[in-house]
Amino acid sequence: MNKYHSTRNKQIEASSSEAILKGIAQDGGLFVRDEFPFLNIDALESMSFQELSKQVLSSLLEDYQEEEINQYVEEAYGEQWEDKAITPLVNIGQEYILELFHGPTAAFKDVALQMLPHLLKGAILKQKQKEDVLILTATSGDTGKAALAGFKDIEHTNIMVFYPSVGISQIQRLQMMSQTGNNVSVCAIEGNFDDAQNQVKQIFTNPKFKEVVKAHHLSLSSANSINIGRLMPQIVYYFDAYRQLLKSNKIKKGEEICFSVPTGNFGDILAGYYAKKMGLPIHRLICSVNRNNVLYDFFQTGSYDRNRDFHPSLSPSMDILISSNLERLLYDVSDQNTMEIASYMEALKTTGRFTITKTMKAKLDQIIFASTSDDEQTKKDIHDVYQQYHYVMDPHTAVAYHGTQLYRQGDAQHKIVTLSTASPYKFAESVKDALALDLDIKGDAMSYLSKATNTSIPVNLKDLDKKAILHHDCIKKEDMQNYVFGKLKGVHHD
Ligand SMILES: *Cc1c(COP(=O)(O)O)cnc(C)c1O
Repeated sequence: MNKYHSTRNKQIEASSSEAILKGIAQDGGLFVRDEFPFLNIDALESMSFQELSKQVLSSLLEDYQEEEINQYVEEAYGEQWEDKAITPLVNIGQEYILELFHGPTAAFKDVALQMLPHLLKGAILKQKQKEDVLILTATSGDTGKAALAGFKDIEHTNIMVFYPSVGISQIQRLQMMSQTGNNVSVCAIEGNFDDAQNQVKQIFTNPKFKEVVKAHHLSLSSANSINIGRLMPQIVYYFDAYRQLLKSNKIKKGEEICFSVPTGNFGDILAGYYAKKMGLPIHRLICSVNRNNVLYDFFQTGSYDRNRDFHPSLSPSMDILISSNLERLLYDVSDQNTMEIASYMEALKTTGRFTITKTMKAKLDQIIFASTSDDEQTKKDIHDVYQQYHYVMDPHTAVAYHGTQLYRQGDAQHKIVTLSTASPYKFAESVKDALALDLDIKGDAMSYLSKATNTSIPVNLKDLDKKAILHHDCIKKEDMQNYVFGKLKGVHHD
């Protein structure tokens, strides 16, 4: 059953439920598996998103029962999705867009975070863990809300989310302040995302904190994308995109296609790589990043170097200098060499940089094509795509669309699916600005977008300003530990 082990040491093993419960291996490595099950694409066409999801997840999470997975899938991908197809594929010109944002918080993180809480709850039972789980999360905007929506009122779990008081959009702020649920805490930190993230990391590694958590009959876990419980559900929509192309006769069975993925922490694109390992005919994965282009440089040169300035951009969920999940891809192209990976990660920690071997670089060139675009380019792409096709993209999607166009210049043959990771309404101000329609429409940016482009505001973003504000706390970053201690006293653990 121990199919998973650390990227840095094969001796540190785990079953799927253990890996989900732990989140990260005790040596700081990430849980990976060496063999992937094969999914026969012949059977794809007749399946729904949910059926596909059941197949993919039960083949990867060996110690979960099939009935268990089936029930989780029904709960995770039900009425809370605004589109019955869950992840519909739309056509613009000769390209395709896979819309991943029809979930409860209007960002693609819902696909995984509607599922993770169920997997975690199942893992607690399977591992006979007596303690409930406490999820601590720092968010730059999307993860926090998607995690709250997923974990609210889930048995045996408590969730605390910290978001920066500056840098997030007004819509993201309102989404968090209005969160309901009796196992949730939401608090703003005076500072930026890095401040919140650093504090959470310090809390996680503070021995005193571990004792206090234990005394409250809780164990700590994380909802970010290093958890395999967040990665595996994302494999599904790569197969589902292929299924939709087959069904509409756009491709022949077995025909290779490409995906362009707006990339930050490298979780989404890694799920695409895993889909390829499971037999999905993928020709290239296009790794599309914004001006924070550490990954772009890495794929060009083979050297990863985080010693550079951080640039806040129009696509904030991709503003990141350390892409954690890259470690998993490197593990694979190093011929699964844990020593090699451990040495790269040590170098990254101490010097902020590392360089891979020529053999690894050559392998990556066969898998990944990299692209980068700055805010000006992003605005232009949002503008031009709307003018040409009347399709409204959010800034993250626009970064990926740029990757599609760049790659297209050298490959006229393969179909390309651009992943769309957020509703344009979540970044309504930026999108309105980029469209530059200059219409005389009254109201806020969301109603402007809706009237100007004749599209509808997602249900869960509508009337956000009328929802009750339930979380007012805003604290100094130094006070975060005490805040958490204080909150623990109120946590139920029966
Ligand atoms: C998180 C996020 C991304 C980046 O995904 P990764 O898996 O971290 O690479 C892209 N777009 C949006 C809207 C996101 O919220």
